Amino acid sequence: MERSFFMVKPDGVERGLVGEIISRVEKKGLKIIAMKMIRVDANLAKKHYAEHAAKPFFRDLVAYITSGPCVAMVVEGNNAIKTLRDMTGKTNPKEAAAGTIRGDFGIDVCRNVVHASDSKESAKKEIELFFRPSEIL
Ligand code: UDP
Ligand code: MG
Repeated sequence: MERSFFMVKPDGVERGLVGEIISRVEKKGLKIIAMKMIRVDANLAKKHYAEHAAKPFFRDLVAYITSGPCVAMVVEGNNAIKTLRDMTGKTNPKEAAAGTIRGDFGIDVCRNVVHASDSKESAKKEIELFFRPSEIL
């Protein structure tokens, strides 16, 4: 069993895609063991995306992720991290395969609907950043 951090980003919430995305996760057989709607503030955004601090798109990324509510989740299951990355698709929706969340719904490389942890280390860091232990059921 593995845990991953998964989040519907502001464009996904604004466009009413939360139900569709949660449904895909559940139908795949993964288990949602924590979930909340949150407004990410600049402080949390900078910690979450710390690895990208020096990138040219960092300012826009922080502005985007703080622009509206997100739905954050902890998802558990066999191989949950890779499974969610595969279901998410490539970062740029133009390159993401049909059938992936970004391939089906993504608008551009910034507003790409969802976040999914990319490794065991990021999953642990991101779960601790977004959830208190008592919120994980
Ligand atoms: N991003 C962007 N421009 C880029 C690359 C990434 O705005 O050229 C944004 C996009 O929202 C992406 C996030 O920064 O999801 C984190 O980038 P990363 O390369 O970690 O992609 P991910 O792991 O989300 O596929
Ligand atoms: Mg990433």
